Amino acid sequence: MAQDPKAGGLCWNCRKPAAGEDNFCRFCGKSLAGFPWYYQQWGIILLTLLALGPFSLVLVWRSPVLSRATRWLYTVAILGLSYYLCVQSYHAWLALKSALSSMGAMGATGLGI
Ligand SMILES: [Zn+2]
Repeated sequence: MAQDPKAGGLCWNCRKPAAGEDNFCRFCGKSLAGFPWYYQQWGIILLTLLALGPFSLVLVWRSPVLSRATRWLYTVAILGLSYYLCVQSYHAWLALKSALSSMGAMGATGLGI
């Protein structure tokens, strides 16, 4: 998705006026040639999956690239994925616990879990 960082003659970051020939914002110094990679859609998806998880919502809502509808779509997807992973790890924990306690019942470990 290509969007002009100077749309409306304003800097995408600080919303102060930016001239068409400027390469960097005169106020905040951000590049006006394009957006940082972590505000691009692929950057947000990569960070969500590899590092940030639900914390990438900050990027979703700060990104100047995404439209309002896209932001909500990402928000729902990220929250849904986080919830799913929480439920899955809870079930994994329960399975591990019952496996350990059945081992204990057989008198193999005596861990007392
Ligand atoms: Zn600026």
